[in-house]
Amino acid sequence: MDETSLERLATDLRPADSAVALTGAGISAPSGVPTFRGDDGVWDRFDQGQFTYGRFQRDSEGFWADRVELQRELFGGNYEPNAAHEALAALGRRGPLEAICTQNTDGLHGETLESTDAESDPAILELHGNARRVRCVDCGNRRDADPIFERAEDGELPPRCECGGAFKPDVVLFGEQLPAAVIQRAKSRARESDVFLAIGSSLVVEPAASLPRLAADAGATVVIVNLESTPCDGVADIVFREDVTQVLPRLRELVESVD
Ligand SMILES: [Zn+2]
Repeated sequence: MDETSLERLATDLRPADSAVALTGAGISAPSGVPTFRGDDGVWDRFDQGQFTYGRFQRDSEGFWADRVELQRELFGGNYEPNAAHEALAALGRRGPLEAICTQNTDGLHGETLESTDAESDPAILELHGNARRVRCVDCGNRRDADPIFERAEDGELPPRCECGGAFKPDVVLFGEQLPAAVIQRAKSRARESDVFLAIGSSLVVEPAASLPRLAADAGATVVIVNLESTPCDGVADIVFREDVTQVLPRLRELVESVD
C-alpha cells in the first residue's frame, strides 16, 4: 500500500472542515453483494429491459413478479457492512466526514450508523435510492422491503399500501428521474468539501461522474480509491489503485492517531 500518500491524505483530513465520500459498487463487492455490471454481473443473468419504470407503470404485476426474483438474487445472502463501510462511519463520528453519497442501493452504509448518536453520524445521500425499502407511488409512504416482498411472493402482485396505491422498490428504475433534491444536496456537499473521496466507483454513471470534478473545481483535494482506472483520475490529487477494505481502515487509523 502507498503509505506515503496515505499519510499525506491523513494530514489533509485531520484539520479539514468538511470531507465528503462518494461510494460505488466496489465498496460493497467485498461484502459479497452482487454487482450489476461487468463480467458475471446481475445484468448478465437478468434482462434489464424488464425492470424499467415504463414497465412498472404499464404492467406492475409482471414487473413485481420479476422483481421478486431479482431481489432474491441481490439480497438472498445476508450481507454485512465490511471494514471499508465501518471506517467511513468512524471517520464521520470522530472525524471530518460529513456526508456519504452512494450509488449503491444495498443500504449497507445505513447499517453502520449509531442511531443513539445520530448527530455525529455522517449524512447518507442515496443517489439511486435504497432497495431495502419500498415506497407507495400514491402517498409516498416508505416501508421495509422484506415484508412487502414476502406478500409479493405470496401472490399479491403488485403489493399495495393501505391507501390502495402500488408499492414500488424505493430505487431509481431505468427511465425514472433521479431524486432531484438528493442530487442537489450531493452537489453542494461536493462543492463545499475540503477533501473529496471517491471510493469503489468507476465514476462513469451520472451524477456520480460529475461530483469529483465539481469538488476539484471548487479547490478540494480529490482522492480516488478504485481497483480500475476511472475517467476522473486526471482531476485527482491522489489515486489508490487498491482494495477499499485495505485503504480505508488504514486511513482511519492514521487520522485517529495523534501525532
Ligand atoms: Zn399509499
